[in-house]
Amino acid sequence: MPQSFPDESGLRAGSSESPSTRITLAIPCLLPYHCPAMTVAFHLQATDGAARAGLLSTPHGDAPTPLFLPVATQGSVKGVSPQELRELGVAMLLGNTYHLYLRPGVERVREMGGLGAFMGWDGPTLTDSGGFQAYSLGSRVKVTEEGILFQSVLDGSRHLFTPERAVEYQEGLDADIAMALDHCLVYTQDREAVERAMERTHRWAQRCREAWRSDSQALFGIVQGGVFPELREQSAAALTRLDFPGYAIGGLAVGESKATMYPLVSHTAALLPPERPRYLMGVGSPEDLVECVLRGVDMFDCALPTRVARNGALFTRQGRVDVTSAALFGGRQGPVEEGCDCYTCRRFSVGYLHHLFRAKELLGLRLASIHNLRFVMRLMEEMRRAVLEGQFQAFAQAFLETYRPANEEERLRQAGMRGAKARVS
Ligand SMILES: [Zn+2]
Repeated sequence: MPQSFPDESGLRAGSSESPSTRITLAIPCLLPYHCPAMTVAFHLQATDGAARAGLLSTPHGDAPTPLFLPVATQGSVKGVSPQELRELGVAMLLGNTYHLYLRPGVERVREMGGLGAFMGWDGPTLTDSGGFQAYSLGSRVKVTEEGILFQSVLDGSRHLFTPERAVEYQEGLDADIAMALDHCLVYTQDREAVERAMERTHRWAQRCREAWRSDSQALFGIVQGGVFPELREQSAAALTRLDFPGYAIGGLAVGESKATMYPLVSHTAALLPPERPRYLMGVGSPEDLVECVLRGVDMFDCALPTRVARNGALFTRQGRVDVTSAALFGGRQGPVEEGCDCYTCRRFSVGYLHHLFRAKELLGLRLASIHNLRFVMRLMEEMRRAVLEGQFQAFAQAFLETYRPANEEERLRQAGMRGAKARVS
């Protein structure tokens, strides 16, 4: 197995050995895998209970944690420019390997300088592996030991994502963080099915780990195990044995209730090494962000803030409001939320926003997305400050007392919609 040694200069000094001799002199990697130079590093700065604040350093800059990644599925956060994202406080974006592979193609993105350069974003990026699409695209995929066979959402053509190819494609996209290919199931109580998918995820994680060669990209493993705590334990143990630079908690927010999800997040986060970042995939409602930072998660991504914004659902400290409601917002003065520092709230009344939605003006979608993203980014900033100041428990309690979540039925309906939405988003 070839190995990489970040700094061999000391070993080579004054040496005239052949390259093969040099390798035998170098300090061996303790794992039977390639050990790329760690260009992505995580520094844990403070904890408050299980909540954490840290700094994720990448080749494209630093990202403070807790961190929320807006979703740029096809190389764009719908309707919001990179400059606006910066102004909103966004530090890192997520791109979707499956969609970018289909269009414009990995090679095209590579030729254009990698995902960040291609989309005019000069900060860090993360790509998912395509594993989530096995869940979200449902009938359009077939999962075998070899990998995930997709039927293209564009033209029906067939494409096989193996663990090795998932790593190769993500290397081509050149994100700062890549994800191992995993087998993600929709929420089920079928323990045997979950166990089979989990064990496959472990075998795939090992294949990804062996295929990973990039020195400029970190590879994160994904813990599976569904709603079964003992499977989560097995999965965390199997993944951490492979020594990834970071770990994702996968297979949650796939249709289970919050009452089911939260204890599993606590349980799984506590099984992961404290010095590595923990990433809860696909979670991004304000109450979930607070509840899961409280349980030890560092990173999140979700299309929800921008997706619901485009439907006229805007976040406020009291919960989501529907700006399309004529009874509530027609002709109403004042911003969506008093005190919000976003461009939308500084410049426009909620009555005007209501009008834009009724008139189906594109500006309405943009202004709503800007507000919701700023709401989430400000929430992350406030949580980080609260952890650094040792005030997180009080902050979380105050937030959750005021914020009224969308009801469970609505949440599950949205989770159910994710598959259909993923096809067009
Ligand atoms: Zn605002």
